[in-house]
Amino acid sequence: MSATPPRTVTNWSGNVAFGAREFVAPTSVPELQAVVARGRQVRALGTAHSFNDLADTPGTLLSVTSLPPVVEVDSRAATVKVAAGLPYSDVVGPVERAGFALPNLASLPHVSVGGSVVTGTHGSGVRNGCLSTSVAALDLVTADGDLVTLARDTHPREFEGAVVNLGALGVVTSVTLDLVPTFAMRQRVYEGLPLEVLDAHFAELVADAYSVCLFTDWRGPRLTQVWINQRIGDPDPTVVHEPWFTAVPADGPRHPVDGLDADCCTQQLGVIGPWHERLSHFRPDAVPSAGDELQSEYLLAAQDAPAALRALDLVRERLAPVLHICEVRTVAADRLWLSPAQGRDSVSIHFTWTSDLDAVLPVVRLVEDVLTPFAARPHWAKVYTTAPDVVRSHYPKLPDFVDLVHGYDPHGKFTNEHLRRCIDADRSTHC
Ligand SMILES: Cc1cc2nc3c(=O)[nH]c(=O)nc-3n(C[C@H](O)[C@H](O)[C@H](O)COP(=O)(O)OP(=O)(O)OC[C@H]3O[C@@H](n4cnc5c(N)ncnc54)[C@H](O)[C@@H]3O)c2cc1C
Repeated sequence: MSATPPRTVTNWSGNVAFGAREFVAPTSVPELQAVVARGRQVRALGTAHSFNDLADTPGTLLSVTSLPPVVEVDSRAATVKVAAGLPYSDVVGPVERAGFALPNLASLPHVSVGGSVVTGTHGSGVRNGCLSTSVAALDLVTADGDLVTLARDTHPREFEGAVVNLGALGVVTSVTLDLVPTFAMRQRVYEGLPLEVLDAHFAELVADAYSVCLFTDWRGPRLTQVWINQRIGDPDPTVVHEPWFTAVPADGPRHPVDGLDADCCTQQLGVIGPWHERLSHFRPDAVPSAGDELQSEYLLAAQDAPAALRALDLVRERLAPVLHICEVRTVAADRLWLSPAQGRDSVSIHFTWTSDLDAVLPVVRLVEDVLTPFAARPHWAKVYTTAPDVVRSHYPKLPDFVDLVHGYDPHGKFTNEHLRRCIDADRSTHC
């Protein structure tokens, strides 16, 4: 096990310097159990791609990325069991070689499976739930160091609360994910879709392919790009409608951010390839996104998307100067208590900001004001300033979740400032 207390550990974007007294990276589950059992305050860390203090702790920050890199496909059950600290990029190859696929991926494959599923990370597609909805079981080290397995089949009710757990129940050591038969895809990018087209056609447009992602830099009332990922064998919308809802095909590969090199992006121009080389926007061997950035994201009811985008368009002159890119995706409703898509088919409106926090924060607040009428739920792992009571009001099952935390972690070992603030986790430690 490596332990490096003196050095500063930061998140991927560098905007959070963790305040932990101790940073440890156990290399086996028994070592990890021992660290948890002896720790007073512990938080798990995956690949540190979150943008806020959700992972932080004044105690022990425990990286799961040095655990043995288990990837076990069970072909009969159509599942894969993976070490929680592995990035999706290390999982997709063995899954594909066994003849299977994951139903969806986030915009980048660099994020850990554990950190993604406990925060409700998502890709796009009207029929695709967030990545957490693929979880069939979790292995979790709880406050006293015990290793417990929570499975959808054996713990049906508790399980819906335990998957998107924000690290509050313990340290997830492995995750079992449902698989589907492998599939091939073609990805095409279209450009120049006027915003007004969304007023009448949003629902139709985002349902026109397996995964549709819309981008705008808010420098005008239009979508700069639309990324369409079609599963081979499904009807092909880009043959049926050309130009696609008035947008025209890009004449070469594109990066979502104007002017950045498309070399780091997955293959476009309709070239057929495996699911894992199309569903993410960024290739595993390249720096994803803009690199020097902050991110915020909000999920709201999908039917409110046109009105919400119109409302944002009214303030676009405030957004554009601090924005690399805004992305609009869809996420199917789920039943996971703390999932931002819980109970409603959702649209996610994502902002990749510049890294200047002082300039970005007032604009984040503005976006939150504009999206207030739409009961927008902030992405747990990104920059947000939504008032804690408002966040709590968005999750009808939050009281049940707090009870679950109380049961698993009665002394608040895994609670931190962020959880106290946003889910009222203290109620679990004091009641
Ligand atoms: C460039 C970029 C692109 C992104 N694209 C998307 C996207 O397309 N869609 C989307 O929804 N999000 C996206 N994100 C956000 C990202 O998916 C989340 O931040 C996710 O939490 C990253 O996983 P991680 O392992 O890096 O988490 P970390 O930052 O390491 O941790 C996040 C939280 O999870 C907890 N945690 C981590 N591992 C464990 C574990 N094993 N057991 C218990 N708790 C754990 C931590 O305590 C913390 O609370 C993006 C982020 C970046 C930087």
